[in-house]
Amino acid sequence: MTERFNGSFTQQEPIPQAGIEAALRVMQSGRLHRYNLVPGEVGETALLEQEFAALTGARYCLAVASGGYAMATAMRAAGVRPGDAVLTNAFTLAPVPGAIASLGARPVFVGVSEALTIDLEDLAAKADQAHVLLLSHMRGHLCDMDRLMQICDDAGVLVIEDCAHTMGAAWNGVPSGRQGAIGCYSCQTYKHVNSGEGGLLVTDDADMAARAVMLSGSYMLYERHTAAPDPEVFERVKYHTPNISGRMDHLRAAILRPQLAALQTQVARWNERYRVLEEGLRDTPGLTVIHRPEPESFVGSSIQFLLLDWTPTEVAEVLQRCGARGVELKWFGSAEPVGFTSRYDSWRYVDAPRMPASDRILAGIVDMRIPLTFSPQDCALIARIIRAEVGAVHQNSGSFRSVAP
Ligand SMILES: *Cc1c(COP(=O)(O)O)cnc(C)c1O
Repeated sequence: MTERFNGSFTQQEPIPQAGIEAALRVMQSGRLHRYNLVPGEVGETALLEQEFAALTGARYCLAVASGGYAMATAMRAAGVRPGDAVLTNAFTLAPVPGAIASLGARPVFVGVSEALTIDLEDLAAKADQAHVLLLSHMRGHLCDMDRLMQICDDAGVLVIEDCAHTMGAAWNGVPSGRQGAIGCYSCQTYKHVNSGEGGLLVTDDADMAARAVMLSGSYMLYERHTAAPDPEVFERVKYHTPNISGRMDHLRAAILRPQLAALQTQVARWNERYRVLEEGLRDTPGLTVIHRPEPESFVGSSIQFLLLDWTPTEVAEVLQRCGARGVELKWFGSAEPVGFTSRYDSWRYVDAPRMPASDRILAGIVDMRIPLTFSPQDCALIARIIRAEVGAVHQNSGSFRSVAP
């Protein structure tokens, strides 16, 4: 009998009951705007910021409308100007180069390693081309952050971290988003906490934090922030910082607070599922499992593997065969952007030279979401299906591949 998986790859868990009740209270109050507070009230949005600052150990936190908005705001707060070059990952999602382009700045892509992290050799070679790196921890893979910070510090490059896939992760015990000058997170439905849309930004830098608050659309109400710098800092920036509205509201914050409180539990559940998939895929001929380094504590909300040096036709066949058995895989190597996947060369507003070493890796990256609505048994079944179909295509390919040492 051929096994088939019948679950949905895009089905989230419900919002926790505490979040639903808090959201109802906000709606009953009628005061949804973050600055609409009664005397003595802190409000859901400011409380969310306090709690996320505490969770990450950051001095300051700002909640905003989206992860993309958080990244653009971080770059503005860091002084990126139109025309500036900004280093960023070649392997990432469209909102990352998009955030750079939204400032009229210019992405300079840095290659991807076989660990699916930023290629640190390539970064070192390009570090003199920009003053800012927008580092995307794409699909939750953390590079050697100590080495990355060394390279960037030596070159005077300020690091802004895109932690859309690493909320709850850490490198050597340091929470993701806390090595760079600013960490940016997304609270969009497909990330680690779900308010439909939303973003968070953390930093220890008082001036950047104050500029970010002003940029987000605080008018002169910044004293209603409880995870922001003292008013003196705002005095320095308030006449020079434009208002580019992108605030978070109480309703989203109310939904998010109980989810943040449960984040560590959710991380453990994701990783349990990830490990089942990883074990099930290990030693499949022709398939490379991505090595997770010791210092990295990750959040297995998705899994990737490499079909390195397979032809596009063979990769497409694997996707088609898995799809026919209910397993939805995504391919980052496709020449055409499909759904949420795209390649650096599909962002044609960027003048990007080809990167052959990265092209080889991108061409082999296969990706799968792991919603928490999947059970560990579901994950074991999915792994059996992928293993069988990769095996079938590999066997039929007829081409002999050298096995990497
Ligand atoms: C989702 C995502 C973002 C942006 O988040 P939005 O909240 O959707 O704007 C940024 N980077 C990566 C890698 C993402 O996956």
